[in-house]
Amino acid sequence: MDHNKFKQIVDFIREQYSIPSGLVPLHSPIFCGNEKKYLNECIDSTFVSSVGEFVEKFENTVAQYTGTAKAIVTVNGTNALHLALTSIGVNTNDEVITQPVTFVATANAIAYSNAHPVFLDIDRDTLGLSPEKLNTWLEKNTITRIEPSTKQQVTLNKTTHRRIAAVVPMHTFGHPCRIDEIVEISNKYGIEVVEDAAESLGSLYKGKHTGTFGKLGILSFNGNKIVTTGGGGMILTNDTHLGTKIKHLTTQAKMPHPWEFYHDEIGYNYRMPNINAAIGLAQMENIEKFLASKRGIAKSYQQFFKSIGIEFFVEPKNAHSNYWLNLIILKNRNERNKFLEYSNKNGVVTRPVWTLMNKLPMFKDAQTDNLENSEWLEDRAVNIPSSARL
Ligand SMILES: *Cc1c(COP(=O)(O)O)cnc(C)c1O
Repeated sequence: MDHNKFKQIVDFIREQYSIPSGLVPLHSPIFCGNEKKYLNECIDSTFVSSVGEFVEKFENTVAQYTGTAKAIVTVNGTNALHLALTSIGVNTNDEVITQPVTFVATANAIAYSNAHPVFLDIDRDTLGLSPEKLNTWLEKNTITRIEPSTKQQVTLNKTTHRRIAAVVPMHTFGHPCRIDEIVEISNKYGIEVVEDAAESLGSLYKGKHTGTFGKLGILSFNGNKIVTTGGGGMILTNDTHLGTKIKHLTTQAKMPHPWEFYHDEIGYNYRMPNINAAIGLAQMENIEKFLASKRGIAKSYQQFFKSIGIEFFVEPKNAHSNYWLNLIILKNRNERNKFLEYSNKNGVVTRPVWTLMNKLPMFKDAQTDNLENSEWLEDRAVNIPSSARL
């Protein structure tokens, strides 16, 4: 690809966002609703911290929106993931299967639980964990037995003899993976699924919201996500009993009482402050507008890139994607690097896919399998500006 094409792309992105000069960000939040009104109400009430009405309103709004029984807010998506794993008993000497194509938070949360990540490949058409590769790896590398003490089915890694405690697929850049198949395979082996849906609020798979297929799902409301609370996260579950336990754990495991301090286990201070929930509630009132705008932007990118012969990633089959971060697939790593260099130098923020998790120093000894699709993506993909425009 020549410089002329690079320039065409950069010009198109500037035109798309009506930013003729200056920086075009990768993803910026939009505050055009009741954010300031609710913030004022929150401050006037003095309940800015861990108690207040916005927390419950925000939880109920997202629960209803995603069609899940229970939603529990947390301080951020990373600790939502940590707590999700902890709450289902992931612990020292367990293994957790995930994909190497993800933000480091996914692998870090596994490490916080003192468990060991196993990185398996993605599918090229979803960018998420491949059910075929998961199935093959489990067939080849594990044995399943019934634990005599608990009568529960457990799956052990033949080589390490450690328990496979969870599978954590991630809906990459907002595009749903084949989550129904992943859940079916995992259930066959008695393994729980925790969906990292940090990037996919508003994305559906076969008409059902991502993050609601597994035992638990997590969302992030960081500043660069489709809906933000400044910083924040959420755990989704249809298991109301588990949801109640998680809520308890986010609030230092304090037993409700008018004045007594009594905590019945080691809990966490993971609850989102009311002031953040106030912003989140206002943002959720506009989510349909954000989604419509982002899907419109993706559509015009798709047409443009088709016209210049460059591959633009479109939502997978059976999926309705929020198109959180759009991406193009270039020829090879060399072309990728040249385009990253050119676009960033010219004020249009673009980014490569994250360095694969198994290449980071803290996870370099983790078990992996054939990662050809992950490597393929890492070499070629570039994220381009994707903010909504209202
Ligand atoms: C953003 C993100 C997280 C973590 O969210 P924070 O709120 O920033 O802690 C986790 N996983 C993925 C894939 C993410 O993109």
